[in-house]
Amino acid sequence: MAFSYWESNQWLTKRNLVVVGGGIVGLSAALRAKELHPSWKITVIERHPFGGGGSTRNAGFACFGSATELREDRLILGDVRALDLVQQRWTGLQLLRKRLGDQAIAYRASGSVELFLKGHEPHAPMPTVEEIANLNAWIAPVTSSSKTFQLVDAQSFNGMDSTAIQHVIASPLEGGIDTGKMMQALHHQAHLAGIDVVHGCHVTGVLPAAPLPQIRLSESPEGGSWFEADRLLLTTNAFAGELMDGLDVHPASNMVLVTAPIHGLAPQPTVHIDAGYVYARSIGNRLLIGGGRHWGLDDSAELESQLVNRLNAIWPNSRNVKIEHRWTGVLGIGQERLPIIQEAKPGIHVAVRLGGMGVAMGMQCGHQVADLIAKT
Ligand SMILES: Cc1cc2nc3c(=O)[nH]c(=O)nc-3n(C[C@H](O)[C@H](O)[C@H](O)COP(=O)(O)OP(=O)(O)OC[C@H]3O[C@@H](n4cnc5c(N)ncnc54)[C@H](O)[C@@H]3O)c2cc1C
Repeated sequence: MAFSYWESNQWLTKRNLVVVGGGIVGLSAALRAKELHPSWKITVIERHPFGGGGSTRNAGFACFGSATELREDRLILGDVRALDLVQQRWTGLQLLRKRLGDQAIAYRASGSVELFLKGHEPHAPMPTVEEIANLNAWIAPVTSSSKTFQLVDAQSFNGMDSTAIQHVIASPLEGGIDTGKMMQALHHQAHLAGIDVVHGCHVTGVLPAAPLPQIRLSESPEGGSWFEADRLLLTTNAFAGELMDGLDVHPASNMVLVTAPIHGLAPQPTVHIDAGYVYARSIGNRLLIGGGRHWGLDDSAELESQLVNRLNAIWPNSRNVKIEHRWTGVLGIGQERLPIIQEAKPGIHVAVRLGGMGVAMGMQCGHQVADLIAKT
């Protein structure tokens, strides 16, 4: 169906910036661009009713990496680039909390624990005391703390079965948020700033500037009408390859489970297992667990059973409790864990490959790409 004159005129034509993808990165970039250029007409286009990517489907960890994840990052990226990555997560979280407010996103300074469970071969070995000391010294310029990670006793965590836990590395610096509230707060700010956010509209093609970039829009996943915009930004993360070749980013699914309410459950720290491939936390009096991508299981029933097995091992009071919510979210990953933020083709910028910590990095990446666009 063709768009009406009114639809085109009001939301799609003579746009100074069109952002494709209404997740945390797209909305943050639009907000920053509007701040830099208050007169710009900006439209954000999102094909899903809420957001089909990670931003409304994540676990709500306000995290910057567990000890074993960071050890891996340092090995792969080297100390300097890995620290840059941690800095992006750290700065992004501060920015998110400042811009939206802790109350609006229900931020809770829960602290975190990385658990090594008895009877479960860990994905990565437990770091030695020397490795933890070395990690603390390396990360101190970012966290301003000499004790970002500490070895602690499993018995200190009310509600967990300490007999099932071999080792615990705790960090007081991590927290959790309410993901739904975060996205609603972003939408609210976009609305107040006069940014148009259009849902249910698919971008089915883009063309580089000649002289202006072109964008094809449709109510369905195919076909559509071409429009031009002064500038185009793709923040489609895992789905970037659908619109542009040559970017090292591809989708990876992640399962998330949430239990029914558990009577008497105390607030829990955020939990990392297997170098962050499995994560768990409490949401009010429910428990959430997700991940397990490293097990390579195609059968979702088997994956769910493995996740529930870990949940029950850590929290005895989760046994016999129903799983009330289950969903899948899509991560955008590639060879490297650093995001891709660049002008990929004339007039078309991209800010994609947010990996598993895009809540942390998302707003920072949005700001970074908007600043880059402002210079063009
Ligand atoms: C299960 C799960 C758990 C996670 N847990 C955490 C966590 O606890 N902490 C953390 O920091 N990070 C976490 N992440 C990662 C984080 O959620 C993502 O990195 C982040 O949300 C990415 O944001 P984004 O804006 O780049 O992309 P997305 O949120 O994926 O947004 C991209 C949007 O583009 C839209 N789109 C794509 N193609 C088109 C098109 N052609 N036309 C129109 N629209 C299009 C999609 O519908 C989507 O809404 C998790 C991710 C998942 C999947």
